[in-house]
Amino acid sequence: MSAVNETLIRDVVAEVLGRIGGATTTTTRPTPAPAPSVAPKSDSCGCNGKQATTAPALRGKFGVFADANEACTAAQEAFLQLQQGGIAARRKIEEIVKAMAEKNAEAWGKLELDETKIGRLDHKIAKLGLIKLVPGVDWLRPDARSGDHGITLEEYTPFGVVGTITPSTHSIPTLSGNIVNICAAGNAVVFNAHPNAARCAAVAVRAYNEAIYRATGIENIACIIEKPSLDSFNALCKHEHTRLLLVTGGPMVVKAAMQTGKRAICAGPGNPPVLVDDTCCTTRAARAIISGAAFDNNLLCIGEKQVFVLDRVADKLMQRLSENGAMKLSGAQLDSLTKAAFTFKEGQGGGCAHASVNKDYIGKDTSVLAKAAGVNVPADTQLLFAETDAQHPFVQEEQMMPMLPIVRVKSVEEGIALSLQSEHGYKHTAIIHSHDVENITAMARALDTTLFVKNGPSPAGLGLGGEGYLSFSIATPTGEGITNPRTFTRVRRCVMVDNLRIY
Ligand code: NAD
Repeated sequence: MSAVNETLIRDVVAEVLGRIGGATTTTTRPTPAPAPSVAPKSDSCGCNGKQATTAPALRGKFGVFADANEACTAAQEAFLQLQQGGIAARRKIEEIVKAMAEKNAEAWGKLELDETKIGRLDHKIAKLGLIKLVPGVDWLRPDARSGDHGITLEEYTPFGVVGTITPSTHSIPTLSGNIVNICAAGNAVVFNAHPNAARCAAVAVRAYNEAIYRATGIENIACIIEKPSLDSFNALCKHEHTRLLLVTGGPMVVKAAMQTGKRAICAGPGNPPVLVDDTCCTTRAARAIISGAAFDNNLLCIGEKQVFVLDRVADKLMQRLSENGAMKLSGAQLDSLTKAAFTFKEGQGGGCAHASVNKDYIGKDTSVLAKAAGVNVPADTQLLFAETDAQHPFVQEEQMMPMLPIVRVKSVEEGIALSLQSEHGYKHTAIIHSHDVENITAMARALDTTLFVKNGPSPAGLGLGGEGYLSFSIATPTGEGITNPRTFTRVRRCVMVDNLRIY
């Protein structure tokens, strides 16, 4: 930029800022730190990132915008500011989001449950307390090569603005983890939340931005469209500043994202099967199955959704389930619940009725499901279970209810085949309880899932009781796996020819 242009722009900026001094805003602006605690990089163009703070329409919103266009513009501006703030600013954002998610876990968990009316309060709170397990800035390490021809550095660099879709099943946890991962990599983010979980999401986004603004002077690093719709989804995907999409949700949104023409990282649906053989400890297996399937009333995409158990240990496993907080439904009770929990539309031509999940029962407490089954259960019942055949809707559909179908199988081979069929090629998550390494290996190879958990509850696959790190967005059809800061980077190579190799 020429000196004349630079001076001109600075003058215009000064004049505009002067005119809007004390600008009308929709909210009381928190006072930023006297000087951003994150110093801008010294070799900047001289504007100190101020060219990014000139649009009055974007001020005072703290990330919450009525319109996708404004949200994307604000996020792009914040991305440029974050560039100026460098690694220190990214680190600050990571610290703020992790600390605030934990501090507000109770209030935000309640807010989300009040709005969505799905899941369990104790587990909504627990999910927010876990954001600290999401990796951050330190995850990104450049790769270097050194040889006779000099040195080469490959760095993980940001894209810019990431357009992000979040589910109703864990709105604030998903967006919080996404902010950590996406901003740790140096990007800004715009959310189109699920319409049934958008108000709580906006509360969290505003609170995060206010705190981030106070600490860094960056106002809109995570933006959200206040009233999300299919139109705002399309506008977000199409926007010129949206460089990358991250979609967490079911089959429809994955399909829609893949049709946008933008690169999409898709955290899609699952229907995780569990195989139990006769070598495992049935008590340990039962406890693990209950803890995974009952978590947040089985809303997790990784949660155990159907069990295939070797006939010779099936009764023992069900006995252990009953002893550890689950309750068995009779055949008649299962039939009543099935009629309530699914709707059946006639198949086209084949005559087979196709079941779809009745949304009124998704994520509901066991007491609600039990009532539909015609039975009362003690208030502390974690999970319901019932014996079914392999084609039952509770096996075939991703039901997201604390009711687990148990299917007897004659052999491990049959269990693996039925597990594979019921997973529907989502390649998401599978679980086995076995001490036979050949059975474990055979299932791992056949299922080919992104997560494969042995002898533990499904959340062990996200570092909860197993080794590893956490994310609430597990990219399955597009293959990036458990998302982390590197997922949201471009690899760029910098080559020094014949020099700087120091020996
Ligand atoms: P959903 O698919 O109904 O909604 C997800 C998001 O997509 C929402 O923001 C929704 O508004 C939007 N959406 C839905 N259809 C759309 C379309 N045609 N065009 C544009 N946007 C659309 O999912 P949900 O019920 O909120 O969440 C549960 C689903 O998400 C389950 O299938 C679950 O397995 C999956 N999920 C996957 C992961 C993962 O990491 N892989 C994590 C959580 C949830």
